[in-house]
Order: sequence, then C-alpha cells, then structure tokens
Amino acid sequence: MTRIKVETGVPYEVVVDYGAANKAAMFIKTTLTKARKVVLVSDSNVAPLHADKVLNELRGVGLEASLFSFEAGEKSKTLATYSSLINFLAEKRLSRTDILVALGGGVTGDLTGFAAATYMRGIDFIQIPTSLLAMVDSSVGGKTGVDLEAGKNLVGAFHQPRAVFCDLSYLETLPEIWIKDGMGEVLKYAILGDMDLFSVLEANPKRKIGEVEIAKCIGMKRDIVNIDEKEGGVRKLLNLGHTFGHAIEKLSGFGTTHGHAIATGIAFAARCSRQLGLLSENDCERIVALVAAMGYDPTSLLFTGAMSDAIMGDKKVSAGSIDFVIPTEIGKCVTQKTPLEKVEEMIDNGR
Ligand code: MG
Repeated sequence: MTRIKVETGVPYEVVVDYGAANKAAMFIKTTLTKARKVVLVSDSNVAPLHADKVLNELRGVGLEASLFSFEAGEKSKTLATYSSLINFLAEKRLSRTDILVALGGGVTGDLTGFAAATYMRGIDFIQIPTSLLAMVDSSVGGKTGVDLEAGKNLVGAFHQPRAVFCDLSYLETLPEIWIKDGMGEVLKYAILGDMDLFSVLEANPKRKIGEVEIAKCIGMKRDIVNIDEKEGGVRKLLNLGHTFGHAIEKLSGFGTTHGHAIATGIAFAARCSRQLGLLSENDCERIVALVAAMGYDPTSLLFTGAMSDAIMGDKKVSAGSIDFVIPTEIGKCVTQKTPLEKVEEMIDNGR
C-alpha cells in the first residue's frame, strides 16, 4: 500500500492499494462524521460492475446511500448531465454535510467534483477512480468541470476531494483500450520529470504498470499541486500534450480517447521544441519513437487550419497568446508563450 498526502487548503490522502475502495465507507464514517446521506455517482459501464459493492459498504456503516448513474462517455460530460445530477441531489435532500462519491473514470470524477463544488455552494466528495487515467491523473488535484460545445472543461471549479482511493483491482477488469488511454498520461509524467520511468517504458512499451509507477505519477502531480493549486504557474506543465491533444480529441468528435490524443500531442510538442532549437534531435527521436512503440499515432492527419481553430477555443488562451508546454529534455519541460498569430506555425512545426 502507498499513501500520498496532498497539501492543499484541506489536505487529503491518496491511497493506492488492492482493495483500497473498501476503505471509503469507513473513512466517511470516521472522518466526515456529520454525513448521513451519500450519493454514489457512476456511469453505465462501471455501475453494473462495481456500484453494488460500494453501496453495500456505505449502507453497512449506517449511511443512507443512493446511486446516480449516467450514460458512459465524454459525450455525457455536459451541463445537461450536471443538471440531472444536482437535481437528483436536491430530490434526495442532501444537506451541506452530506457527501458525493465518484466511482469511475475521468468523466465521472470531473462531473461529480463539479456537482460537489456547486451544490449548496460546495459539499465534500471523495474519489474512487476505476480507470488508469483517473488514478494517475484526473482524480488528484481538484480540477472539476464539464465540457461545452465550444471546448473541453470550459465550465468548472477547483474543488479538492477529501480522499482518493485508487483500488488496483479495478485495473484487472479494465478493457485494454482504457489501459492504453491511461498510459498516455503516464507517458506525460515520464517526460515531465522522470527519466527512470521513461527508460522503463522505453525498455518495454507495452508493459502493464503497477503500484510503484502509479504512485510515481501521483507523487509528481502532488508535488506540483502542492505549490500551485490553481494553475497560476508551474501546474501549467501538466498540460504537456494537452493543447494539441484537446484539439485532436475535439475534431475526432471524441472518437479518439483522451490519452491517445495527448500522446499524439506529446509527439507534436517534441517536434515543435526541436524546430525551435530547444530539444536535441536525439531526445526528440526517442520521444516520438516511444509514442509510436506504445501504440499511439505520432502524427495527425488533421488540417492545420482546423487544429488551429480548435486550439483557439482552448481555455488556455489568454491575452492574445497561448502557453504550449514543450520538452527541453527527457524529464524536463517548459511553457512556451505563443502569440495566437503564430499558432499555425507552431502546428506546422509539430508535424
Ligand atoms: Mg489529461
């Protein structure tokens, strides 16, 4: 078992272990002692597999627990689903001291966190991530929100969970496509700050990762969130691959998974950096080769103009420029402020 403490306004722990989800009910009972009601939020893929067990455990410690389930997929990360969820909370008469529990992947966590951030001006929630992507990345750090037609995560709030339980046993039933989805974020962490992890992936690109590597990624995110909770500076580095990646995801109608799109985005970022003379040819080749070896497309056939339009709608655009995160070596990245009129050139550099 690994325990990782995140030192935000209200500190919380991330527990990584087989069976970690079993600790959630007792945590609520002993730590969030005013809670009487719990709404478990889960999607149509995860709920049939895992919701009953968690509901039974919550009820077992005397909590009044009910399930809110929604259609799985990024397409559900909308104001409409958010609206159904908060209306459900009101119907169940949840009070300010009651709790939400997110059981699922990134969409479930972001949606649940946003409902928790806003229902009655904010109630507590905990995260039980069931996907690799949610374990290594989205369940920690308190970013919550939903998508708009115009782009991803355009409505949201920073709202930290009270605890995160990463139960490794969920990975055993996770379909291969979603393991690969999460590995895109693992690759991101390796390039951001862990040359050893990069070498591990290079030596065996299709390797299944376990507790040690998952904890490394969460630890890196924790270190960044501890010093920059609201993304004023260094936290921007966590967007490596995401500016290009979000554009690819959006233009594919979310047919390309998030992790796959950001892996492609990372290859773009590496080539951009090489073109700008900030990354060596050798490191660029290693990054692009690893993206391919892990089974992602290192290039995108999307048109520059379309990608540029999609990037202009990204929420990272501010005051006429956008911060691209680019690697300067394996294990080190910087933000490159780029005026909007240079975005097309940046995309062409990345091809
Ligand atoms: Mg991401």
